[in-house]
Amino acid sequence: MKTAIYPGTFDPVTNGHLDILKRAASVFDTVYIAVAKNMHKNPLFTTAERINMIRQCIGDFHNVKVNQFDGLAVEYAKKLGATVIIRGLRAISDFDYEFQMALMNRHMNAEIDTVFFMPHENYTYLSSSTVREIVRFNGDVSEFVPEIVKNELIRKLRSDR
Ligand code: ADP
Repeated sequence: MKTAIYPGTFDPVTNGHLDILKRAASVFDTVYIAVAKNMHKNPLFTTAERINMIRQCIGDFHNVKVNQFDGLAVEYAKKLGATVIIRGLRAISDFDYEFQMALMNRHMNAEIDTVFFMPHENYTYLSSSTVREIVRFNGDVSEFVPEIVKNELIRKLRSDR
């Protein structure tokens, strides 16, 4: 049984994240989405809100679970018995950071490898931060996030206007 974790901030989850998840879930027996509390990034959504949105978007996946974690991804992977960390690569601009992190993680635990998936080309320019910006300025993000995420973004970003 091959178990993987997919760590990230998911602030909020986008169709790009879900594209990577779909690919990973078809390769590994179990995929744990690991939602980082990541307070230094000052997320728009609380950890519970981010998890809640993901849970509502992954109904179709029978082998995906979602939880929060705090600390090192390699430690969390080890705790779950996972031997793989999944990350997404959108463009060459992701590579530098991801490469450094993958090698550092392998240095910390040689038994855990990072596996990269590339999303459908429609999602290569998509990020959670872009989606937040578009909603903030009243743009439409319907093609980038599931309906429930769009509604949560509108509720959060436009409620105080
Ligand atoms: P982090 O703060 O750990 O980078 P993110 O939620 O921004 O968390 O991203 C988690 C992972 O998902 C990263 O590997 C990132 O490259 C990947 N990712 C984010 N958006 C996309 C996308 N549109 N297509 C493919 N991968 C993506």
